[in-house]
Amino acid sequence: RAKHAGGNRYELADPEADARAITRHGLTTALPVALERGEFFIEYQPLVHLGDGSVRGAEALVRWLHPQHGVISPDRFIPLAEHTGLIVPLGRWVLEQSVRQARAWEAGAGADPAAGPLRVNVNLSPCQLTHPGLVSDTVEILERAGLAPGSLCLEVTESALIGADDDLLKPLRRLAEMGVDIALDDFGTGYSNLANLRRLPVSVLKLDRAFTQGMQHFPADPVDLKIIEGIVSLAHSLDLAVTVEGVETGAQADQLRELGCDTAQGWYYARPGPPDRLHELALADAT
Ligand code: C2E
Ligand code: MG
Ligand code: MG
Ligand code: MG
Repeated sequence: RAKHAGGNRYELADPEADARAITRHGLTTALPVALERGEFFIEYQPLVHLGDGSVRGAEALVRWLHPQHGVISPDRFIPLAEHTGLIVPLGRWVLEQSVRQARAWEAGAGADPAAGPLRVNVNLSPCQLTHPGLVSDTVEILERAGLAPGSLCLEVTESALIGADDDLLKPLRRLAEMGVDIALDDFGTGYSNLANLRRLPVSVLKLDRAFTQGMQHFPADPVDLKIIEGIVSLAHSLDLAVTVEGVETGAQADQLRELGCDTAQGWYYARPGPPDRLHELALADAT
């Protein structure tokens, strides 16, 4: 095996990886056409308030309905889109669709009025962060849809912001000043200096699924629980809300609520699905 001979050689030594490489090439060339042909679609996964179980919004998750391969997950094509630069128009498309969707949820009576309008979370790739049009595009998209900036949350991964200098943070700061929430996604998987959090214009920490996975065993490892408790207390002392990803069981939800987490997302509540379903879920818990 040419395992140590570098990326391409290794892939040629492994038939399965070779097949993947061919597909990867095929997918990469198909990407720009896919955007033109409207092969992308968005699923929405509810974000649930742990305190009262109400649906507060949803994360927008993009999928590619490939004419030959069927539905392709973002883990497969987002890295390709980032590599080719297509992520900028694709990301803008996701943002525009999601913002319009949030406006549609708001306009349709359905959300619990006491809980406020349903909000939408949109993932931003690092390439979008450094793209000069980010702030103006976002402002324009919000204005055109008539959505308040406070109904939008942009998710940026912790790793994208590690060691970020002021130039990189500037557009996020401007968006935060306008009222857009910024969430630090996949938190706990990078190696960010916790003290550094103060410097970032974020208002939400999204604890990575790795934390909830660690809680699958019952009773959960007390050290894992202490770590979550510590992160939650630090986050709250910095005025950050804590969302947990990957909640798959009621026991996990109970434990995370006790640990002080604010919002949860995961299969226990709902898998990602079509936008109308969010309305139904929100209605169901409002009645
Ligand atoms: P993410 O932002 O961390 O999104 C959460 C992922 O966890 C989603 O995977 C979601 O379907 C999955 N998930 C949710 N609940 C559970 C659960 O209870 N158990 C398990 N095992 N998984 C759960 P998905 O949809 O495959 O997306 C993967 C990643 O692709 C996202 O991770 C995000 O980084 C990226 N992505 C998705 N849509 C976009 C987009 O529009 N733009 C960009 N830049 N990235 C996107
Ligand atoms: Mg995310
Ligand atoms: Mg995440
Ligand atoms: Mg994640």
